[in-house]
Amino acid sequence: MSVTLNDIHAAAKRIRAHVVETPLLPDEVLSARLGQPIWLKCEYRQTTGAFKLRGATNALLSLQPRALARGVVTASTGNHGRALAHAARALGVPATVCLSRLVPENKVRAIRDLGAEVRIVGASQDEAMAEVARAVEREGMTEIPPFDHEAVVAGQGTLGLEIAPMDPATVLVPLSGGGLAAGIAVALRSLAPQTRIIGLTMESGAAMAASLAAGHPVEVGESPSLADSLGGGIGVANRVTFPLCRDLLDDVVLLTEAEIAAGIRHLGRAGHVVEGAASVGTAALLAGKVAPTGPTVCILSGANIDPALHSRIMAEAA
Ligand SMILES: *Cc1c(COP(=O)(O)O)cnc(C)c1O
Repeated sequence: MSVTLNDIHAAAKRIRAHVVETPLLPDEVLSARLGQPIWLKCEYRQTTGAFKLRGATNALLSLQPRALARGVVTASTGNHGRALAHAARALGVPATVCLSRLVPENKVRAIRDLGAEVRIVGASQDEAMAEVARAVEREGMTEIPPFDHEAVVAGQGTLGLEIAPMDPATVLVPLSGGGLAAGIAVALRSLAPQTRIIGLTMESGAAMAASLAAGHPVEVGESPSLADSLGGGIGVANRVTFPLCRDLLDDVVLLTEAEIAAGIRHLGRAGHVVEGAASVGTAALLAGKVAPTGPTVCILSGANIDPALHSRIMAEAA
């Protein structure tokens, strides 16, 4: 297998000083309603507001000093870009983020504030990606991709090490490119082999779900979703996360926008302010799409939601 339990143990050791071990807290309301202990892994409280710091930090710390000195590059403006910029600054490594002209100014500023160099090129994500390829080719930078990379998967897998001691019946993992699900699955398959691992994503535009159904990586059209961190393709040349998700996930469950909103609201009422992507496990339990058969862990993967959007969702009925 491309990523092993040993890789994840090594990652945990490497990143220990740079990430926080986030709390695992009970969901009292859901536990009472469903008659099984429901636990929330509060990874939205991770530095930078998402688990992506684990993978980005492990990938940086796995590079040779000469590669580090030449710097790292990505085209992600989301949680991965933020995590990479933060990790690079913490380690004194130059980071570059390539963006299209369409990325809003406040996002550009947020990335600059994290100390990354911002390159604005072209009018599409494809052109930003082409600039990443040029920086790799001509300037010797190293691309750190958001999920399809062994060291990134091993870093995300450290979350699995933190859950394994409770030997859960089921773990509910938000699923996009599959770095998080693959990492957690590699850890749990060895440490808690009875645990069911279920990937959760939105109904439309879920590339990994479509790819698993097709038996090979496929492209899907993107549609806007409350779970914006779950959008994007898995790469038609996907090497690492597609085979791991295919081999290790027990099931994939799809959620509607209304179900995702209900998940955000339920968590918000308990004081967990999370983005749509982080609410999918809770959303699936609330919607009855997953029936808990014993202790169940929901991975609350990120906090980065527009506060105005969060307030709007909280104000909706139901
Ligand atoms: C990236 C991300 C995911 C999905 O992770 P993958 O490794 O791409 O499957 C889920 N939730 C949040 C908050 C994220 O930032």
